[in-house]
Amino acid sequence: MLNCREIANHSSDYLEGRLPRSRRLAIWLHLMICSHCRRYLNNLKTLTASLAKRTPPAEDEAEIDKIMNRIKRETDKGTSE
Ligand SMILES: [Zn+2]
Repeated sequence: MLNCREIANHSSDYLEGRLPRSRRLAIWLHLMICSHCRRYLNNLKTLTASLAKRTPPAEDEAEIDKIMNRIKRETDKGTSE
């Protein structure tokens, strides 16, 4: 039987489905009996999802580039005058 520390060590692999079936089953069994690890994994899942959402889409990156270029032009103008 896995202990809580081992669950924590494997948690991100477990959430991303990178573990072999036997290990996934062992973690699943532990989660059935351990509310602490259930809560830990739920928090981790929520955190991962919110971080993934925060990555800016391509349009935003283009917009940021435009703004950076404008700032650079303004700065160049400032130094040459
Ligand atoms: Zn546990």
